[in-house]
Amino acid sequence: MAKFVYAAPYLTQLGELRVVGECECGEPNCHTIKFQHFGEGASVAFVDHHTEDGRMLTIFEDEAGMLSELEVI
Ligand SMILES: [Zn+2]
Repeated sequence: MAKFVYAAPYLTQLGELRVVGECECGEPNCHTIKFQHFGEGASVAFVDHHTEDGRMLTIFEDEAGMLSELEVI
């Protein structure tokens, strides 16, 4: 996934972003959280990033472009 992401529409959401849940997979290294926009609608991954410590960071948005989930595995 090498498409360019404009950060501005997401940065403006950060002040209102609330964590409403975390992943329950039980993996000790899983730090996946869900935001208030996580719901029934389709969430789409728009950022995939390999972190320096070898993890995979994936960011999801919902159909309206609201940040819905942050996955760190
Ligand atoms: Zn998990």
